[in-house]
Amino acid sequence: MSRRVVHHVALARAPRGLSRHARRLEHQQHKRQVKRATFRDCGRRCVYCGTALGLENATLDHVIPVSRGGSHLPGNLVSACQPCNQMKGALLPTEFFARYPTAGQNFMRFARAVHRQLKRGARRAVSLAYAQAA
Ligand SMILES: [Zn+2]
Repeated sequence: MSRRVVHHVALARAPRGLSRHARRLEHQQHKRQVKRATFRDCGRRCVYCGTALGLENATLDHVIPVSRGGSHLPGNLVSACQPCNQMKGALLPTEFFARYPTAGQNFMRFARAVHRQLKRGARRAVSLAYAQAA
């Protein structure tokens, strides 16, 4: 295959129908829907401190941080206030809850739609933290 042919193939317009602009709008709309659904599933609160939030000051938190291999899918997403989101940073939920067991308790109470495995991990981290504090 000559270089010229490859070049020509690369120029073919792949997406059917949608312009780049339309796809970006669709992506933004999808993100908004995910945020709204996550927010509703979390009882319109920060799952870590339990504060009631409005959609405009809620942030989406990846329970397993993206930097630690966490996914962007709903089972790994919760709503959180800005300060809690920042405080959690790149910590794994077990590390965060070992440091702040009350955040773990709130998480178990409010983060109803996350993966069961995450809730189990939270329960373990919280009871371990209290056992060590006792
Ligand atoms: Zn919070």
